[in-house]
Amino acid sequence: MRPSLLNPLFAPVTSLPGVGPKQDKLLRYLLSRDETPRLVDLLLHLPSNVIDRRARPKIRDAVPGTVVTLEVTIDRHRPPPPRNARAPYLVYASDDTGDVVLTFFRAKPGYVEKLLPVGEKRYVSGTLQMYDGIPQMVHPDRVLDEEAIAKLSGIDPVYPLTEGLALGSLRRAIAQALQKLPALPEWISPEVIRRCHFPPIAEALTRVHQPVELTDVLPDQPFWSRLAFDELLAGQLALALIRAQLRRPAGVRNAGDGHLRNNIIDALPYALTPSQRNAAAAIADDLKQPVRMLRLLQGDVGSGKTVVALLAAAAVAEVGKQAALMAPTEILARQHIKTIAPLAERAGLRVAILTGREKGKERRDILARLADGEIDLLVGTHALIQDDVIFRGLALAVVDEQHRFGVRERLALTSKGEAVDVLVLSATPIPRTLVLTYFGDMDVSELREKPAGRQPIDTRAVPMSRLSEVMDGVARALQSGKLVYWICPLVEESEAEGTEHLTNATKRFESLQKRFGDRVGLVHGQMKGTEKDRVMAQFAAHEIGLLVATTVVEVGVDVPAATIMVIENAERFGLAQLHQLRGRIGRGSEASTCLLLYSEPLGEMSKARLKVIRETTDGFRIAEEDLKLRGEGDVLGVRQSGLPGYRIARSEVHSQLITQARDEALRIMKDDPKLQGDRGEALRCLLYLYERDEAIPLIGAG
Ligand code: ADP
Ligand code: MG
Repeated sequence: MRPSLLNPLFAPVTSLPGVGPKQDKLLRYLLSRDETPRLVDLLLHLPSNVIDRRARPKIRDAVPGTVVTLEVTIDRHRPPPPRNARAPYLVYASDDTGDVVLTFFRAKPGYVEKLLPVGEKRYVSGTLQMYDGIPQMVHPDRVLDEEAIAKLSGIDPVYPLTEGLALGSLRRAIAQALQKLPALPEWISPEVIRRCHFPPIAEALTRVHQPVELTDVLPDQPFWSRLAFDELLAGQLALALIRAQLRRPAGVRNAGDGHLRNNIIDALPYALTPSQRNAAAAIADDLKQPVRMLRLLQGDVGSGKTVVALLAAAAVAEVGKQAALMAPTEILARQHIKTIAPLAERAGLRVAILTGREKGKERRDILARLADGEIDLLVGTHALIQDDVIFRGLALAVVDEQHRFGVRERLALTSKGEAVDVLVLSATPIPRTLVLTYFGDMDVSELREKPAGRQPIDTRAVPMSRLSEVMDGVARALQSGKLVYWICPLVEESEAEGTEHLTNATKRFESLQKRFGDRVGLVHGQMKGTEKDRVMAQFAAHEIGLLVATTVVEVGVDVPAATIMVIENAERFGLAQLHQLRGRIGRGSEASTCLLLYSEPLGEMSKARLKVIRETTDGFRIAEEDLKLRGEGDVLGVRQSGLPGYRIARSEVHSQLITQARDEALRIMKDDPKLQGDRGEALRCLLYLYERDEAIPLIGAG
């Protein structure tokens, strides 16, 4: 249960005066929430800038083009003449040095009269301009009386906005939310408070939203840093709690004698690489420990993660327990089962697949066999976390391409068994700080070397003006029986929200079809799963030679015979994405070629990206370069500059705080793992504030 102390902060924003359904909609969008945001969401929406209104010159001395606050007397009003309603409403005001005209366009009747009563003194703040030699202020940002101005510092926060949402109304809403802030207990330890010079939470929130100094809103200053630390601590603590609560019952171990694993290794048509062997051994060791496993297996595309995951599943099956492998897409899930099924069959491991496509009787059969323990490894998509999917004894959850799943989905899968071991597969090498923020203290195995026999990929950048030469090259390749990918970017999302725009891919498909006829196929994300699979299968079977695709082939698709890839508008793709895409070729024993088609002129960033991708195929190096080019937040493909899943912490600024928060979380786990007592109660508040409360039910009431 959420501490009742926090209730005012969890009231919906629509409970604030002046926030109605229209604002609700805009705020949902701004704050990325599916439901009406709460006051706490407003308070954690921090300013991106400030406006300094402290300059208070006389009218005569005000510098045109600057923001000033003028103390004036209102002299007279000149509403637009009746026949020209679109003319501005003018208000003439003055001080003892001169006159100023305050201009309002399309003012509502009565609004200006009330705002600026004739004969009264007011403070007007905004950008001063000269118009026909007369000082003018168009739509003053603020109009204040003596009493109101006394309360303000003269520094206004500026917030990230969304179209249709006015800065003033967001500011007012946040100011009102601040008024509702209850007295919160301190959850950070006195040592850390002292060492980091953190202010109390109320002061931190007040000062970023109502800055007294221009620097108060900077992320590296104590106010923002304190909030960032809170957010990071909540994240670290939640991860640590989840992990600590899931110790295995005494004597229970999740790996057997190795007989199934040996069967699989014997059935492999190749030898494991040393790093695959090391990873498999580390996993087997984890499975025998009294604490559950939380391990990240990182390896470039094509480095052979699937077989390592299969060996983990086999270890679990050796003691009669079950494993699940969850992939983010249907294509990937099918790919996994295709690799796994023949090996599993020969090893005596029973596998099945469950996605959105298995329905009716087929689905019921799978679920029945799963519940009876007749399936050792279930591969699938999100479909695995549906409520009616019940395992007899789930002991291992393998999550592929983890960053596409949220923490909640991962939990939903692991909650289908007791003290379930978790193995996360990631093809995007993740920097250490991100591993910490995202997974907490997690063990990491890396597959550094490529399986033997892989040929290098020749990567070249080619301007669009040479398209016809590229086409000729493709023609020759098709002639000699090669398989070619042609990747087109999705056009940026436009009005029709969230739908892919396929003009590029379909247009290109049509023009290629004109030349190459039925040797061309097309796959994109809006096709049905079965349809996609059919085209992919035709490609793998050489029935079609040229596959036009959007980025649906980015993740995990495996057609080792494909050796050529053309990426159109390569300048529009991020580094990680280019690397993932290119990973679809160079998987077999034949040399591969990747052509990066770009439109001129190239921006600096695009130029730098194409250079990196031409120079190396080492995913770890590419990730490092990516980091340098765009900052950590984007390595996982997240657009905001923050850390994924974090609203306040910024990896560039707060990386020191990440480790400090981790250490603080570990100390808490040592001293008070059940979060009891006053500090425990305070920490529970923290977890709720930052929506990291999913672990609280696991530890029970305080
Ligand atoms: P990823 O790490 O991208 O998931 P996969 O597990 O899909 O890579 O493996 C890519 C391909 O490499 C598969 O066709 C797989 O059979 C093959 N493979 C995996 N390990 C080895 C190895 N040690 N030697 C040769 N080929 C391997
Ligand atoms: Mg894979």
